[in-house]
Amino acid sequence: MHSLVRTLYPICRSITGDGLRRTLREIQRLVPLTLHEVPTGTPVLDWQVPMEWNVRAARIETLSGDVIVDFADCNLHVVNYSTPVDAVVSRAALADHVHTLPDQPTLVPYRTGYYAERWGFCLAHRVWEGMKDSHYRVRIDSTLAPGSLTYGELLVAGSEQQEVLISVHCCHPSLANDNLSGIAVATEIARHVLSRAHRLSYRLVFIPATIGSLTWLARNEAVLPRIAHGLVLSCVGDRGSFHYKRSRRGDALIDRTVAYVLGRNAVAHEMMPFSPYGYDERQYCSPGYDLPIGCFMRSPNGTFPEYHTSADNLDLVTPDALEQSLRVLLDVIDVLERNVMYARVDGRGEPQLGRRGLYRAISGQKDQAAAQMALLWVLNQADGTHSLLDIAERAGLPFAQIAAAADLAREADLIR
Ligand code: ZN
Repeated sequence: MHSLVRTLYPICRSITGDGLRRTLREIQRLVPLTLHEVPTGTPVLDWQVPMEWNVRAARIETLSGDVIVDFADCNLHVVNYSTPVDAVVSRAALADHVHTLPDQPTLVPYRTGYYAERWGFCLAHRVWEGMKDSHYRVRIDSTLAPGSLTYGELLVAGSEQQEVLISVHCCHPSLANDNLSGIAVATEIARHVLSRAHRLSYRLVFIPATIGSLTWLARNEAVLPRIAHGLVLSCVGDRGSFHYKRSRRGDALIDRTVAYVLGRNAVAHEMMPFSPYGYDERQYCSPGYDLPIGCFMRSPNGTFPEYHTSADNLDLVTPDALEQSLRVLLDVIDVLERNVMYARVDGRGEPQLGRRGLYRAISGQKDQAAAQMALLWVLNQADGTHSLLDIAERAGLPFAQIAAAADLAREADLIR
């Protein structure tokens, strides 16, 4: 996963354009993603697919030709969606187009102007303070023209039509935790679900934030009734503790499952209520859809000092943190996969376990007493209204143990 983050890190992405396309094609080398191109001007809900933006070069130079700021060194230097410019401007005029972080004077900020039709540069405050000339030459070689918005999608069919939606944004340029970590973990989840048979179907979407999810939603309303659970992944590669923002519903099965897995895995975490700010859960959880989709993060957006700066780099994202995030998410998937409701074939009284070889089966297990309790809980609660997660929560036993007990009971034809 870290290798994919390193590969994608130098690419200048945006909500449209060749950097986004190149990123999706890199992911395509690992999983069979379908790329969709939606033309500029296409209405999507209350919005429209914007002009396509591409940038080739951007510089601030002194009049004697010394390069002070160069897009080739760091693609955050140009405000994303800058219009082209080639001019000599006074320092005072340039100040209107320059963004810095006085509190973090060595870092380059990340700024966008998708709908602003302006040009601008982002630079370290220290560099800006050192620029004392009266005039500078500024050049941004970019195009803003009719084209398309690109997104990637992969559906991995399970034995049931019910879907799990995994959504990640991929519109940020060289920012590692905010966008690339989610891309890497989602790609690995895709590889995982492609490698084995599943009950649920998995749909992975790699989209530019906001306009991408709006576009996907506008084109996929027929799919939405099949989405049973979903997660937006973001900032999953830093060393911070886990944060899960609940879906708008607050108590969807995905919310309960993530809470259960994080609690059981004994990792530092915080459950956060839904709020209409953040990532694409804002669109999925708008009132006209209200999908059961939460947002899974380590350090939440806006809360870590590297957020939206050049310090969100390859050092902030670690292989261990990516791996730990993946493991939690695969545990979540495992619970969703196995979380079904059973009913006793004949629910009158307790069945005789010895006669069916169940005591022998249990005594072979590591934690014999707990295994027996798990079986008794399953046999008691299997009335067609309690899922295995309900039973695990109520019994205070690991989900895997409850699921194993259900397997035994099913093989013995005690439940269906
Ligand atoms: Zn961001």
